[in-house]
Amino acid sequence: MRLDHIGIAVRSIEAALNTYQRQLGLTVTEIVDIEEQRVRVAVLPCGESRIELLEPTAPDSPVQKFLDRRGEGVHHLCFGVQNIEKKLRELQAGSLQLVEPSGRGLGDRKIAFLHPKSAHGVLIELVETGSNEETSP
Ligand code: ZN
Repeated sequence: MRLDHIGIAVRSIEAALNTYQRQLGLTVTEIVDIEEQRVRVAVLPCGESRIELLEPTAPDSPVQKFLDRRGEGVHHLCFGVQNIEKKLRELQAGSLQLVEPSGRGLGDRKIAFLHPKSAHGVLIELVETGSNEETSP
């Protein structure tokens, strides 16, 4: 597994870019809406992984609920795995709880989330990167 990205919940991507792009010097490569998760995502590559700024696009967005409860901050860590079905079967044999439903993330990649209660308070996302990680977005 490798760290694919870190998701950061923000109230406004525009405001957050002032920090991450203009001050820290990262570069935004794309900003996309993921309707299924009611979130807008700004992608800022950083070394082998990237930062994703997450702005809610609807009041019932999971990211909006996170902001209401905890304010802005680190929302989840995402690990890339070669075969997500296989990894989930392995994990379900252990103590990690899956958050339903799984779906599709950025670049239409298969994703799944593991409940923070079963992972020391951190929401963990898994993304299927396939066997050749060079071709994944
Ligand atoms: Zn993510």
